[in-house]
Parts: sequence; C-alpha cells; structure tokens
Amino acid sequence: MTPTPTPRRPRWRSLALLALLLAPLLWPLQQLAERYYRDELIEQNRQTLDLYVANLLGTLRRFEVLPNILADLPPLRALLATPDDRAQQDRANRLLTRVREETGADVIYLMSPQGITLTSSNWDQQDSFVGRDFTYRPYFREALAGKQGRFFGLGTTSRKRGYFFSSPVRDGERVIGILVVKVDLDDAESLWGNTPEQLMVTDSNGVVIISSHRDWRFRATRPLDNAERAAIAANQPYPTQAPTPLQLDDSAWLIQSRALQETGLTASILAPRQLVERPVRTAVAIGAASLLALLALLGLLLQRRRHYIERIALDARAKRELEIRVLERTHDLETLNDRLKDEVLEREQAQQELLRTQDELVQAGKLSALGTMSASISHELNQPLAAIRSYADNAGVLLDHQRTDEARGNLKQISELTGRMASIIAHLRAFARRDRHAPESVALQPALDDALALLAKRRRALDVELIRDLPEATLWVQAGETRLRQVLGNLLANACDALSEKAPPRRMWLSAESTPTGVNLILRDNGPGFSAQALEHAREPFFTTKTSTQGLGLGLAICETLMRALGGELLLANHPDGGAQITLQLRHATPGANLAATEEFS
Ligand code: ADP
Repeated sequence: MTPTPTPRRPRWRSLALLALLLAPLLWPLQQLAERYYRDELIEQNRQTLDLYVANLLGTLRRFEVLPNILADLPPLRALLATPDDRAQQDRANRLLTRVREETGADVIYLMSPQGITLTSSNWDQQDSFVGRDFTYRPYFREALAGKQGRFFGLGTTSRKRGYFFSSPVRDGERVIGILVVKVDLDDAESLWGNTPEQLMVTDSNGVVIISSHRDWRFRATRPLDNAERAAIAANQPYPTQAPTPLQLDDSAWLIQSRALQETGLTASILAPRQLVERPVRTAVAIGAASLLALLALLGLLLQRRRHYIERIALDARAKRELEIRVLERTHDLETLNDRLKDEVLEREQAQQELLRTQDELVQAGKLSALGTMSASISHELNQPLAAIRSYADNAGVLLDHQRTDEARGNLKQISELTGRMASIIAHLRAFARRDRHAPESVALQPALDDALALLAKRRRALDVELIRDLPEATLWVQAGETRLRQVLGNLLANACDALSEKAPPRRMWLSAESTPTGVNLILRDNGPGFSAQALEHAREPFFTTKTSTQGLGLGLAICETLMRALGGELLLANHPDGGAQITLQLRHATPGANLAATEEFS
C-alpha cells in the first residue's frame, strides 16, 4: 500500500508571503485615498475661503466710499473753516457719532491738513482722537496728496486692529482736511469658528494681521526687506517694530490663499494635513483588512479544497483496500473451495474403497464362515458316516454269513449313529435359530431405497432401467430392518447377475400390492429367468448355476430362512413375458411402532 502523504502545512506561510507581495497594492490605494480626501478638503476650504473673502471684501467696500461722501457734509466743512469754534466742533462731533452709529464703522474722524484731529466720533471717550496727531500714518499722507488712502494698522490707543480709509476734503483744488473712517477688523477674526482649520490674513508685508491662531498674529510669513522694515518703523501698523518670523511647516499644513483685490491683503486657510491623513489611514487600514480577509478566505477555500481532495484520496484508498481485501477473500474462498472439492473427491474415493473393502471383507467372511461351517459339518458328519458305512458293510458280510444277531447289532449301531447325526443337524439348526429376532415394524420403501442405493453403481454400469410402481404412503411391514435389507439386497443382486447375462435393454420392475394379511413386494427382471431346475432347487443351500467364483448357492437359501423367520414367504417364478419374478410375502405392521429392539446383523 502506498504510504499516506503527510499533509502540507506551510500553506499559511505562502499566504503570508502572498500578503507581503500584495502589500504594495496598498500604496496606490493610499495615493488614491489621499488625493480624494485632499481634493475634497481643498474644495471645502476653497468654498469657506471664498465666503470669508467675500464677507471681508463686502465689509471693507461698504466703508470705502464713506469718507468721500462725508467730506461734503456742511458741518464738517464749517468746522474746517473755523477749527476753533467750539459750537462747530460740538456739532461736528455729534454728527460723526451719529454717522458711526448708523454705518457701523469703528471710528470716523476729520483731520486738518496739518494732521491734527479736529473732530472724531469718539470725542466723548477716553481714547478720543480729538487733538491727536496722525501725520505718521500713510493714509494721511496719501489723502493729503489728493488720493484715496488705505491702511491697515493697530489703533495706537485702542490697540484694536483696523482698516483705515481716508479721503481729502477739498475746497476747489485745495485740500482743506482729511476724513478718515476706521473699520474694526477684530470682528473679522471672531467670526471664525473653533475649527481645526486656521484662518490667516496677511498684509502686503506678509505679516499676519488676522488669525484664528493667536500665536501667529503680527508675525512675518516671509523675510522683510529694509524698505519694508523702515516703513513698519515709520507707520507702526503692528504692536512691534520687528515682527518675528513665522515658519509654517508645509508638511503639517495644507495652505490655500486668496488675494483681496485693492486691499493688498491675502487671506489664507490652513488645514492640518492630519485631516487628510486620518481618513487615508482608515481607508488604507480598511484596504489592508479587506486584503487580509480576502487572503484568509482564499486560505480557507484552499484548505477546504485540500481537505476535499484528501478525503477523495482517502475514499479511493479505502475503496482500493476493500477491493484488494475482497479479492484476497475471494481467492481464499476459491482455494478453500478447491480444497473442499478435493476432500469430497478423496472422501468419495475413500468411501468407495471402504465399500470395496467391506464387500471383500463380507465376501471373505462369508467364505471363511462357509469354510468353517463345511469343515465342522463334514468333520461332525464324516465320522458317523464312515462308521455307518463300515457298520453297513459289516452288516452285509454278517448277513452273508447268517450272523443275523451280530448284523442286527450293527444295524442298531447304524441307527444310533444316524440318531447322533440327526442330533448334530438339530444342533446346527438350533444354532441357526439362535440369532433369530422377533420382528419389528419396518418401513418398506426406505429399506428398498437403501438396498437399491447399495447396488446403484452396478445398476448404472449395466444400464438397468428401474421401473417403480410403489404407493406414496409408507408401507409398514413386520421385519427386521437389517434382515429385510439383506433379503432385498440378495434378490436385487441376483437380478443384476441375471441381467448381466443378456444384452440390453435391461429392466427391473418393483411393485407392491396389499393383501388381506400384508404386503406383497414383487421384484421382476427381464433377464433369462429361472431354469426349470433352478426353479426347483434354487432355495436349497449350495445350489447355483453360476461359476464357483460367482455364486455359492446360499443367497436364496438365506433369504428363504430369513423370510420364514419373519413369518413371511419367498416365492420364485418366471414372468409370462420372460425373466424372473420373485414375490416377498410380508406381514402388515403398525406404522412407526417398533415391535422389538433393533436387531443387529448376525
Ligand atoms: P447363487 O448366488 O450361487 O446364484 P442363489 O441361491 O442366489 O445362489 O441362486 C440360486 C440359483 O437360482 C442361481 O444360481 C440361479 O440359477 C437362480 N436364480 C436366482 N435368481 C435368479 C434370477 N433372478 N433369474 C434367473 N435365475 C435366478
């Protein structure tokens, strides 16, 4: 048998290897996810930035035109004509306060061409601009030059971030005053919610002026050149004269910027890259998990397939083994069968041998018994016979000599001797009678079958056709089982002997007829039949027409004796159509009842 292949285990190892090989596939996945989430974030932030910029620009533009309009107001012009008139001052102050309240500006104020604030909307507050000098501010210079001025700067007193719009107040070509509107930018910062994205507005110097990130305020996002530094020192837009640099890590922030036209400002939105990295990591993790799950599934499928194949192989092996075992068993059975056949044959041969030996023994036994019997008979009878002969001879001689008394004496001796012989014969008969048994109830058909079976071989050899005409019902007769079989055997053997003398066809008839007292069993053959002499003497002992080796002439004599002992009779005859016909007259017996103990063959 082929050895069972050891199951290959390292399948999981190869799957792990496959997983390693497939791992680079996660890189494009990561790239794709990154691009997707980044684009999404950028788009979202772009919209936020657009909104913010639109809002900021809207606010600024709302105030951009205000100084120009206010410049034409008569109370302001009147004040410029008489700057020291208190009543005019007061009127102008109240006017600006009202305008400020209505427009939402932070501060509105009017300066003289010398840079002194004449009136201001915050005239009644602590940090009032009235009387203050703002000549250092660029918006003053620009307006003085007849242009519209713009400027971002930290309020020097309020410390609040503001965007300044300025316009010249003209009297013909001459600039007689400067009107300034300050817009509060602190609000623009407070609008920003508490989001991970950070807002940053830088001015033209690249310095952060508005930011949701408190630490970034007033820090320079790019290096400042000398001119810029000088301008900062002069204009003082920031709380510091030298803004510290702000290094923003590009790898940590995703920056989107938009320039605000005309203002010189740039609004930026900074999104931490983590916002992209986190979902990308999740996507990659899901991808990796899916890959692993797929591999695990593949592994399981492969394992199941392998189990299935192994089971099929196992089944096939079991089937093969079974077939081999069946073949072996069949072979064993065939051998056994052959041996049995041989044994049966041997047994048959042995049985035949036994039968033959038995026959020979019976024959030898018969002969020896006969020899012994004839020896004893002749010994017993010869002596008196010889004496009788000599007495008779003597008696003759004595009678010749007229010696009658002596002759009578001899005759008396003869008479005594014959008496003795008769007694010897009587002894022999008595001896013969000694073996007689009382009859018993015997089934006729089985006994006949037995006798036929013993002669079956011989019948077959002679090709004798047996014609049976016996009733189905068992015929019970008074007999001895062995003796009946012996008689039947003898008669059937005689029939075979007779049939062997003629040419085929050879036939034997067996029939039975019921009589008032019993059963007549008739055996008939189509042999030569009894000769007239045989018909007369056949029942006598030692009468035979056969050669000395074939016959002893005792068969029918014995049959006769046995039949008589059983209370039956043996009748010999020839059939009208030729051949012998022997009738056994037997007595009825009660079915199945043994009339006496089972006899033994004597
Ligand atoms: P044996 O065995 O020597 O023949 P048996 O007593 O059996 O002695 O028979 C005496 C004789 O009777 C036989 O020799 C034979 O001549 C004659 N006989 C017996 N049976 C038959 C028969 N069926 N047909 C013709 N003759 C028979």
